[in-house]
Amino acid sequence: MDAVATPPPAAVEIVALTKRYAAGTPAAVDQIDLRIESGSYCCLLGPSGCGKSTTLRMIAGHESVSVGDILLDNRNITNLPAAARGTAMMFQSFALFPHLSALDNVAFSLKMKGVGKAERHKRAGDLLERVAMGHLAERKPAELSGGQQQRVALARALITQPRVLLLDEPLSALDPFLRIQMRAELRRWQKELGLTFIHVTHSQEEAMALADTMVVMNHGLIEQVGSPHMVYNHPASEFVARFMGGHNVIDTPTGPIAVRNDHMRVSGPDEAGIAAHITDVEYQGTYVLMGLEVTEAAAGRKGVSVLLNEAAFLARPYAAGEQVRLSWDAADARVLGPGVKRPAERSTPSARGRGHRDELAAVAA
Ligand code: ADP
Ligand code: MG
Repeated sequence: MDAVATPPPAAVEIVALTKRYAAGTPAAVDQIDLRIESGSYCCLLGPSGCGKSTTLRMIAGHESVSVGDILLDNRNITNLPAAARGTAMMFQSFALFPHLSALDNVAFSLKMKGVGKAERHKRAGDLLERVAMGHLAERKPAELSGGQQQRVALARALITQPRVLLLDEPLSALDPFLRIQMRAELRRWQKELGLTFIHVTHSQEEAMALADTMVVMNHGLIEQVGSPHMVYNHPASEFVARFMGGHNVIDTPTGPIAVRNDHMRVSGPDEAGIAAHITDVEYQGTYVLMGLEVTEAAAGRKGVSVLLNEAAFLARPYAAGEQVRLSWDAADARVLGPGVKRPAERSTPSARGRGHRDELAAVAA
């Protein structure tokens, strides 16, 4: 068998998954349901402390599950040891062993499994070739650039032939330039390898750049699941609209709406629209970013932003301190839902979770 052949990717299904670190404390992950398609790039996105790493570690088998199930292609892996799941975790590049060569770093887990030296070096060498690092196999991590170390870290995760690769903030230790470069590499590798990637990040920009599917989490719950385009253009709740950025949340008599800041128009104080005054104007090159304060109580008196392209701004250059009106096309306004409720506040458990639990019970019977 070809040593570098990757096994087929697997779908991951999470059913009513819950983690409570200590009795009497709020659940860090609260009965979440999620299906991640086989061969897709999924990003778990949300602010610090929302439960992303806990979810990933439960999938990896590095954290016990309080309640719920994890399935890999319909196989229940909830109680399997990490090494028997078909998943592997890619750690940040600084987790490489400094005293070992790139080759021995990649071969390390095979050594632990008792695979002979010739065989493990052959397989590690093939993988390093695959990530274009074959010529640097004998270098120690300190003799490699940040990007090269990242590739060694990837090869090290792939040596166990996982069907699902798990990545927890893999780019956060890199400088901004390298982060963008390595982001493109991760995306390319995922396509080339055809594996399912589950990538945790708190950066909406990173998730937008990488994901086929974005899962936006908040306080241990999933607020929204969808493609980056879908989530950005149709945020489900005020939380998602604010977290994704680039949106203004405006109060209306029928509830809050979100409008992208590049879909808002600024006009003179006698035109139609909601009244606002400009607090600051920032020239950004292609765009001009304006900060404004809405002065109408009914619209919420909130701070909002407007992104104008340079030509539009130059045609009528507004300045800080001016009183203006804000407007937008009705088609660009997105009605926001109230956000996801905690399971304890829901009248019935989610139909999906309940259905799957019934199926699982049927399988177990
Ligand atoms: P994220 O990765 O989204 O920043 P985590 O999954 O690390 O969030 O944490 C979710 C919640 O669980 C936080 O409130 C955090 O303090 C708590 N938590 C994480 N790990 C532990 C742990 N080992 N013991 C107790 N609480 C934890
Ligand atoms: Mg984390």
